[in-house]
Order: sequence, then structure tokens, then C-alpha cells
Amino acid sequence: MTGAMEAQVFRGVGVPFETVAVPELELAHGEVLVSVELATICGSDVHTVQGARPGPVPLVLGHEQVGRVVAIGPGRAPRTVDGTTVAVGQRVVWGVAIDCGRCRYCHAGLPQKCATLRKYGHARMARGWELSGGFASHVHLRARTPIVAVAEDAPAELLAPASCSTATVMAALDAARRIRPLAGAVVAISGCGMLGLTAVAAAVAEGATVVATDPDRERRASAQEFGAASVGDGTAEGLAQALRRIPAGRGGYHVALELSGAPSAVQSLLGAADLGAVLVLVGSVSPTSTVAVDPEAVVRRLLTIRGVHNYAPEHLLQAVRFLERPEAAPLAELVGDIHPLDGIESAMLHARAHSSVRVGLRPDPRPVKVLPLGG
Ligand SMILES: [Zn+2]
Ligand SMILES: [Zn+2]
Repeated sequence: MTGAMEAQVFRGVGVPFETVAVPELELAHGEVLVSVELATICGSDVHTVQGARPGPVPLVLGHEQVGRVVAIGPGRAPRTVDGTTVAVGQRVVWGVAIDCGRCRYCHAGLPQKCATLRKYGHARMARGWELSGGFASHVHLRARTPIVAVAEDAPAELLAPASCSTATVMAALDAARRIRPLAGAVVAISGCGMLGLTAVAAAVAEGATVVATDPDRERRASAQEFGAASVGDGTAEGLAQALRRIPAGRGGYHVALELSGAPSAVQSLLGAADLGAVLVLVGSVSPTSTVAVDPEAVVRRLLTIRGVHNYAPEHLLQAVRFLERPEAAPLAELVGDIHPLDGIESAMLHARAHSSVRVGLRPDPRPVKVLPLGG
């Protein structure tokens, strides 16, 4: 495989990104080469660039993107999550994590916690796997990567975040649904960034009445545009008022998704649950202060508190199916500014300044000469 493949490489906090050419690569059995159509910058990429989240350098960041299959390794082509054969020319998204399928966590149905998990946009650049993140012209998909084919007519802005925020929201809703059906339920969404607004749209599409909270007024207005019936600020009182405005919410929420990670928001939700409610914690991904849990209330009120981190391959498929629904179409507007791949520095500055919208990176289309592969 030869051609004009390149990646933007992060070398450390305050160090400019470096364009690294990858003149050739060899695909092994089960592997796929994808040309990137559009990648979006996730908050966690921004955190790494700022030094708030450690990352092994040199590193190709990026784990939200949509692209097109340009080559497949020798032997039988891999299959997508829903069982179709991956083919050259197919437009696809792929999951952030590669599991082994054999360890005790994989066997326990927790592939996202695989003992030898590898993640796109998180691994130190290594010989043979240079194209390991989305901020590149191409990404080298390793065997067992969850791949989902996507519609040709769906906007790239809508599809790129599927492998991070949309699939995570699907995992959170799935966890809640196992305890409580969403149709007809009062669903509280705490935090109205990319995940929160996706969750509002998805819960409304499933027939829930949504109460959304966020300290930011503009984000609350966006939540209403996405179908939230009632909104509140980030305080406990704001949540209580927002619930009281809905007749079915007077006893509290039935399902809550906490996406902000703020301990005060977790505490507020613990105090606003109706009998039998399920609270799914998603946003608390960095160390914070602890919150008080009243065990008697958990017992007597039959509460479920569930943590969700990342997602399983089926959630990526659910994410794509959801994004293809008409109700999801306005989510494309959350991806604002699009920069060329070599404009990554200014794209990162833009992403830092506007945390409520996604910034995109679009590589120039480039030809890649596919050499015949043996095996
Ligand atoms: Zn992400
Ligand atoms: Zn495993």
C-alpha cells in the first residue's frame, strides 16, 4: 500500500502538531484502511492537548470520524457489527475500542473493559500502526474493530460523532431501559453539551418526557429545541422546579442520565428520584469530591444507580440507526466550524473556545494507490 497518507501528530503540551507522512503500510488479515471524510474534535482531545488528560506521545488523536474503506487486508474480509461483509468503497464509522474477545471481561459482556483494550486516538504512535487516530488522512483499522456501514446521504457532520458521544448515549439509555422502559417515562438529562443534547433527542424519539438541566442558558435553550419539555439550571432547586412543571414529574424522575460530571448535579439527582427510578452516571470521568448516598432511600425507594463508561459494539450500531432517523437530523448543526486537516492548530483553539459545538477536520481527498496484497 502506498500513497499520500499523513497524520497530524501530537507531541506534547505546547508543542505544535507535526505532519507525519506515512508512505506505506501493510494490512494484515482482518484489517481495513479507511480514508477520513470528516473527523470531529472531542472534548477529551482538547483535554489532552491542554495537558488535563495524560496521553502517550507521539500520539495521533481523534476517535470521532466518518470515512470510506479504501483497502482490505488479505483473506476473508471482516464483517460489520450487523454482519455484512466490509467492502471497498463502503462509507463507514468505527468504534473507539478494540477488544480481544477472549479475556474474562470480554466473556463477562464488558468488551469496553477488555484486559488488552486498544483505543483509537489514545495509543502511542507505533511502527506498523502509525494511522491510529482520526486526525489523519487515513485510519488503519485493526482486526476486531467494530465497523458500521452508514447511509450515503447522511451528512458527515451528523455521523462523525457516532463513535463517541452518540454511542455513549446509546449505552446509557440501554442501561436505563433494562430497568425502566423509556416510553412514557420522565427522563432527566443533566448536562446539555453534545452528549446531553443527543440524549434529549434520543429520549424524546423514544416517547419520553424530558427534563433537561444545565447552568448555561444557551444550552438550556438548545435542549428545548431538541424537545425537552422543561428545563432547569444546574441547581437542585432548578431540577425540582423543572420536574414540578410536568404533571408526571411531580413525584420525581423515572430515569436520569448524569452527563456533566459535576458532583453537585449527581447529588441533586440522588434527591429527585421517584420510586423505582434509575440514575445512570456517565459524566464523572475524572476524580471529584464524593457525594452522600442515603442507603435507606436506595432500599425503600427501590432505586438503581448505574455507571456507564464507553460502550459495546452494539451501541455503535444503535447510534447509527438513531442518527439515520429524521429526529436526529438537527444534531448535524452541533458540528460548526470545519477546518482543513493541516489547520489543526486553529481548529484546536476554536474547539477550546466553543465547548458547546464540535469543530471538524476535513482532510483533502487524496488518491491512494492500492498494491496487490499477498496471502
Ligand atoms: Zn470522545
Ligand atoms: Zn478482552
